[in-house]
Amino acid sequence: MSSLRPSPIAPTVDFDKDGVQHGFLRLPYSRDDSAWGSVMIPICVIRNGKGSTALLSGGNHGDEYEGPLALYDLARRLDPQDVSGTVIIVPAMNYPAFRAGTRTSPIDKGNMNRSFPGRPDGTVTEKIADYFQRELLPRADIVFDFHSGGKTLDFVPFCAAHTLPDKALEQKAFDAVAAFSAPFSMRMIEIDAVGMYDTAAEEMGKVFVSTELGGGGTSRAQTVRIARRGILNVLRHAGIVEGAVEKSKTQWLDMPSGDCFSFAEDDGMIETMVDLGEPVEEDAVLARIHSTGRTGIAPQEIRAKMSGMLAARHFPGLVKAGDCAAVLAVEVEG
Ligand code: CA
Repeated sequence: MSSLRPSPIAPTVDFDKDGVQHGFLRLPYSRDDSAWGSVMIPICVIRNGKGSTALLSGGNHGDEYEGPLALYDLARRLDPQDVSGTVIIVPAMNYPAFRAGTRTSPIDKGNMNRSFPGRPDGTVTEKIADYFQRELLPRADIVFDFHSGGKTLDFVPFCAAHTLPDKALEQKAFDAVAAFSAPFSMRMIEIDAVGMYDTAAEEMGKVFVSTELGGGGTSRAQTVRIARRGILNVLRHAGIVEGAVEKSKTQWLDMPSGDCFSFAEDDGMIETMVDLGEPVEEDAVLARIHSTGRTGIAPQEIRAKMSGMLAARHFPGLVKAGDCAAVLAVEVEG
């Protein structure tokens, strides 16, 4: 548990004030190039009277771009006249990582999504996590955290929520996923849920929704369009922004077990044998890993442990033992 020490982060915005405020979460960080300096994390608060609060974030991992693109855009364009309640936007949550274009922070190597509940007296990444845990999450009714695959993974575009023990909360989250209207909607399981922002929000009883909208350390025109339209849909669905949800067809996906995940067991050059979105039979070869140190060596095969559809794949051409090589999902009724 966090101590009761106050957060060192000072917001330059007032969360209870009506109108639009563009400001910062200012986190003191004294260093060689800036004595008494700070990390200035951009934040936007758009409020119009009482009502629900949505907490929106991108850049939890610093090399994923659909979320930041959609959220800087939303902060620029959302008119408080169209809002009832509050929208808190942090487009680049792990701002040092976002500035560096890396998954984790260059300051402390902190992975934001393994740093919760954080510490007010910890590393820079832990201090940001602690601020979300104790100051921002308690204000929120609905929490939306954009992800994509980053430099090392690529995904079919989906919006997701977790299967939860609290079925009423789970249903609220899946309803918000449906409103987002991505081409795919995922009932997600986590292989390593400890320290995640998701877990922190869900343990507080908040409706938590996330995405995986592509990857490869860049964005695509289609995935950014999905992000921009989807987040407005979720805010409309929550009754925070005026207007009807623009629904479109979505294919629901399920990750029934750990058999969804395949990991490389060798270093080498990866040859993808199935493309994203393609169907896969159990035992089919998903990828081959070629040794490159000499000629004449047969490639190692990575085989599907279940039938389904390829939902994610390793992105770079070279792979290391332990890398996530492929993720399968099963098409289900919504
Ligand atoms: Ca991510």
